[in-house]
Order: sequence, then structure tokens, then C-alpha cells
Amino acid sequence: MKKTLILGLSILTTLHTYAQDTDSVAIRRIYNEALTNGKSYEWLRHLTKQIGPRLSGSAGAQKAVDWTKQIMEKEGFDRVFLQEVMVPHWVRGAKEEAYIQTGKQKITVPIAALGGSVATPPKGLQAQVIEVKSLTDLEQLGTEKIKGKIVFYNRPMDPTKLNTFEAYSGAVDQRANGATFAAKYGAVGAIVRSMTTANDDNPHTGSMRYGTGVPLIPTAAISTNGANQLSSLLKQNPQLTFFFKQNCETLPDAKSYNVVGEIKGSERPDEIIVVGGHLDSWDLSEGAHDDGSGCMQSVEVLRIMKALGYKPRRTIRAVMFMNEENGLKGGIGYADYAKKNNEKHIAAIESDNGGFTPRGFGIVGTPQQKAHVMAWKNLLAPYGLHEIGPGGGGADIGPLAQQGTALFGFKPDSQRYFDYHHTGIDKFEAVNKRELELGAASMAALTYLLDKYGLPEATAVK
Ligand SMILES: [Zn+2]
Repeated sequence: MKKTLILGLSILTTLHTYAQDTDSVAIRRIYNEALTNGKSYEWLRHLTKQIGPRLSGSAGAQKAVDWTKQIMEKEGFDRVFLQEVMVPHWVRGAKEEAYIQTGKQKITVPIAALGGSVATPPKGLQAQVIEVKSLTDLEQLGTEKIKGKIVFYNRPMDPTKLNTFEAYSGAVDQRANGATFAAKYGAVGAIVRSMTTANDDNPHTGSMRYGTGVPLIPTAAISTNGANQLSSLLKQNPQLTFFFKQNCETLPDAKSYNVVGEIKGSERPDEIIVVGGHLDSWDLSEGAHDDGSGCMQSVEVLRIMKALGYKPRRTIRAVMFMNEENGLKGGIGYADYAKKNNEKHIAAIESDNGGFTPRGFGIVGTPQQKAHVMAWKNLLAPYGLHEIGPGGGGADIGPLAQQGTALFGFKPDSQRYFDYHHTGIDKFEAVNKRELELGAASMAALTYLLDKYGLPEATAVK
């Protein structure tokens, strides 16, 4: 090798090492700031304890809009604004009642109406039960065996899956489409085993959709303990009946908002990087893990940058999306506004998997973009961010993909998430301060790298 080439190579290596050193120092400072002066935990306390449940269209959701706008203004972000969206407005009404009747014995079980469901008749609904494990089981049973009955979907989330989100995906069709399938075969109601691997008495609500051309039958989630009990009693007495009464209704769509705060880019202000979570929650819960955590972490990313005096090259936005749980109107609306305003979003990071210990990020993007981000692995690994690779994104940022935006899903440890998901116990107390702060720092570190180095342009649709 010639001397000049060797010299050239060694300068390049030195420059590369220098850049890596600068980045590792910057990332260390991000973590130090999050872990010593972090605000996400106290913000989350306010959001969950002072405001509480925030289902779309509710007074709580509006309070959360006003308050998150306020805190971002108080932090002195360059611009804070609202984006109007129309959202579904479903209300639960009086608490549900349910029991299993076998002979003269009535055994009360916990249920929760699924979001979007119709009510039962005012006096409730009582019928025999037919237990199934899947939507396709209904086809085999046929109208004759199902007509006039309550279909009981009892396929558990697969406990052998290490990623609980995979187990959830493998079971949630029962909740989303169960009522429609059951109604097709003449059922009068549908009861769905709660989406969790825990055995307890907490029913897990969640959204469902009615298909067209079939009667709208009431549907509810039953706690896993309740489901196990119902299943074993059915084996003893297939003639037993199930009673439930729920009072929910869908009101006219309501006006609501995404809340957006931004720090303007110093070199490429037209290139936007989003960090976000969804501000709405289910009505039963404080929405601490789902998704107060993601929202407060996103605001914290911008706060950390300001606190460190970091001037981003690109524009960084924290977005509190509205209505992820039962309509996604905020996510769809955000992408629509971006298109209308000719905004260029190079990347979006969503935190909507709980405020647990960070494990990494899933990436949805071109192979070039993925390779570009994988090269940062050694900078992120010291902070426990080992799972960097395909399989990410998030519901709210999903609609941006059409515009070629690379999507990043923040991945915390998933083992406890579905203990709380969509239940009354998804409370502030279930969130650990350090875990929450580490998540915010992880998102800030990725944002820093995306801002500094950008991403290879995505031309093809991914
Ligand atoms: Zn969520």
C-alpha cells in the first residue's frame, strides 16, 4: 500500500472515531439529563391523576389537549399548535352487569362492553352459550347451533410467544370482528375472553367494528378468570345461560385535536422528525402505560434537547395524537395535514408499547434506511437498546408511510404490558420512574442521530 493511501485511511478512521466519540458523549448527556432532571414522570402523574381517563370526545380528552398544549408552551418550544380532527364519541353509560346461571345458581362475572358496541335491551340479555376458539369455528357449527345464543370466544393469547404483542395480534381478531361473525349466524350477543396472559378479574376493553349487512349485537370482554369459570361450567352444564346488561351508546362525532409542539431546525427546517404517542385512553383506565407514557416521553425528548442547548438541524416535533384507540382519526388527520401543507417528514418515532425498560426500536423503511440506522447499534447498545431491526412503526404514525417517511416503533420490554392494557389497573402506580425516563432518553438519542445524520431518501413505496 502506498504511504499516502495509508495516511488517508488513517485520517478517515480517526475522523470516524472522532464522530463516534462526539455522538457517544452527546448520548451520555441525553441520558444524564433524563435521569437527573427528567419531567416525564411528574407530567404523567398530572395526566393520570388530575385528568384521568381520556376517551375521544370526553371532557377528560379535552382537558388533556388543553394541558399538554400548556406544558409545551411553558417549556418554551418554538411553536405549539392544535390540529382539529373529528372523532367518534362512544360512551359506556352505567357499569355493566353479568352472571352465569346454572340451575338456580347465579355466578357474577366481571365484563366490560367493547368500545363501539351497542347496548343490550334495557333489562339485559340472557341466552344459552356456545363456546368457540376462533371465528372459523362458527362456520363449522353453522346457524342451526348458533342462532339465538351468545357466542363465547375463548382462544387465549399464546403464552409461548416471547413478544406479547405477537400473542395479542394472534388473538385480537376475536375482539375486533367477533360480534359481526356471530351475528352472521344468528347469535344475539358475543362475549370475548380478555386480551391478556394474566389470570385475574380485570376485563380488558378495546375497540370492535361492526360489518355491514348483519344485525348489531352487543359485545363485551370477560375477565380471564371469568372466562375460565364459564368454560368449565359449560362442560358440566352445556344448557347454562349467560346474562349481561350494558348501557353504552355512540353519540354524534365530536371535535377534538392533535397537540403539536416543535423546535425549528437550524439548517434544514423543512425536514421534520416526529416523536409521538396518543393522548386518548380507554375510559376505564388512567391510560398510564397506554399511552400517557408515550406522550410524556415525547414532550420530554424536546425538553431534553432544549435543556442541553442542542440546536437541531431539522425540525423536531412532539405530537400528541388523538383517537388512536377507537378510530385513528388523529393519525390519519396528521398525515392529511402534512400532505396539504407540503411538509416533508423524514422520520417518525412512536412510543405506544408502554413505559417499560427500553429494549430497542423496530424500523419500517427501505433496506438502505435500515442499514443506515443499524450502523448506530454500537452507540445505543450501552443503554440496553439491543433490538434494533425490522418490525416497528406505530398506529398513529402509520399513515405517514405513504409519504415515504421512515417509521420507528419504540420497543420496551413487553412482558407486563398486557397485564394492564385497556383495564382499570393501567394506573400511574404501574409505571416505574426510571423505566419511563430511560424510554424518553432512548427516543431522544435516536432523534439526535436521525437529526444529525438524516436518512437515505426513500423513493420507492416500502
Ligand atoms: Zn395505545
